Amino acid sequence: MTQIAEAAHSAPRVTGEHPSAFPASVLAGSREGMAEVVTTLAGAIASARSARREDGPAPRGAPGDVLAAATESLGPPDVPADGIGADAALRRLATMLVEYGLDLAHPRAAAHLQPPPLTVAVAADTLASAGNASLDTYDSGPSAIAVERWVVRSLTRLAGLGERADGVLTPGGSMSNLLGLLLARDTAGQARGIDVRRSGVAALRCPVVFCSELAHFSVHRACAALGLGEQSVQPVAVDEHHRMRPEELAAALRGLDDDRTPVAIIATAGSTDFGSVDPLPELAEIAAEHAVWLHVDAAYGFGALFSERLSDRLAGLELADSVTVDLHKLGWQPAATSALLVADANAFSALDRTVSYLNPVDDSEAGYDGLLGRSLQTTRRPDAIKVAASLLAHGRAGLGSMVDVCHELAVHAQRRIAAEPELELISPAELTTVVFRYRDRSHADPDRLDRINSDLRRGLLESGVALIGRTTVRGGRPDEAERVCVKFTLLNQTATAGDIDELIDKVLLAGRACARRTEEGAA
Ligand SMILES: *Cc1c(COP(=O)(O)O)cnc(C)c1O
Repeated sequence: MTQIAEAAHSAPRVTGEHPSAFPASVLAGSREGMAEVVTTLAGAIASARSARREDGPAPRGAPGDVLAAATESLGPPDVPADGIGADAALRRLATMLVEYGLDLAHPRAAAHLQPPPLTVAVAADTLASAGNASLDTYDSGPSAIAVERWVVRSLTRLAGLGERADGVLTPGGSMSNLLGLLLARDTAGQARGIDVRRSGVAALRCPVVFCSELAHFSVHRACAALGLGEQSVQPVAVDEHHRMRPEELAAALRGLDDDRTPVAIIATAGSTDFGSVDPLPELAEIAAEHAVWLHVDAAYGFGALFSERLSDRLAGLELADSVTVDLHKLGWQPAATSALLVADANAFSALDRTVSYLNPVDDSEAGYDGLLGRSLQTTRRPDAIKVAASLLAHGRAGLGSMVDVCHELAVHAQRRIAAEPELELISPAELTTVVFRYRDRSHADPDRLDRINSDLRRGLLESGVALIGRTTVRGGRPDEAERVCVKFTLLNQTATAGDIDELIDKVLLAGRACARRTEEGAA
């Protein structure tokens, strides 16, 4: 300790003759407050228990009615003149959240890449909220900085990115993709003697970003936000397994006019609908040959690395320049929990900032440094705390077996769908999704089947019985139209094969009902 620090430490504490109007328990970070968090939550959870549905994962009713009832249960939309107290407020909210919300832990919740979160993660997130650290500066939360560094290191090791790797947590895969593309853009500028950060994108002539035609739409959004323009996105065709064709990418790069600037190749490791993984080693080779940044969007697929059985599917990930990871998908974290990993920590120099009120140079030189320079955010939640708790509690083996169980459920669904004459398997279980289509025995016209498939998913949602996904898939030939399909996204490791059978039975019943209705409508 310096002398000043010692003196400050030993100064007598002045105790107040004027006590605060508020008890210590009003603040969660105090000892009394933390105890009250626990008892208030226990009370709220107990009173919400009666609102829990057993018959399905979603509230029954049309959206207008559900939202109106939910809003009404909160009371008039005015800031109340007097409060009702924490216990009553929490009870009211907990009850309405359960009654009009989703039960993601229900085995028939299978719509989106939105997992039921792990108990340990939710408990740790409460601790994180109570501490309210921020990651931008050392004096906003030293322990949280240590936790994030630990989590990032653990993830870069799991990805095999090497000792120069680094990363940062972000509020979602869309943001991680944006950040990855920002680093790619500025690196492409640097290689051409252009300081994009200072002079803007105008000097970067006709930028091009390559990705598969199935890449997530956040890639297009990121290009728009970064000034590259959505038209900089050049989609590359996929094969019959929904994977980017490397020979098409190579041809596109070879055929690029001299006045164009290739900024990045974006591979997808786990496409949102199919879970398909682009051929990473081949794409990495092409990227290296043309000295183009390789970003791998592994928002969905990264979780497969926890599984010994499935981790091979991500071979080549270690060759990426940057990787998007969403642990609020195949990682069972409450949102938002994403990360951008980079192979070389120097890439973050594009985000360096010295701000007099946050990280003055002399502070940084003395080690009082935060993580401001890795993010576009300033105040940043310590989302790494729940991740660290989950990794410590379950380990790679625990999380890996959860991934395996979800994959097996998807394989079970795939087999049953393939055996069911009224269902058509569109895409098998690569990771934990299965895409299929209802068809009735009459093999009716495709437009009518489109309507049946969209209606059946809507019907299941409105009755609250099941939550399933919906998407469109183009047939094998380029001239084939896009067709409406339904989808299971299976992320519940406590569900059983029997639950999946029941879910499929509900789909069949709903499909038959919709088919009858379209027939009556036509008659
Ligand atoms: C979900 C997803 C994203 C977007 O992630 P968010 O966390 O929802 O912002 C990006 N890419 C892929 C492949 C995804 O599946």
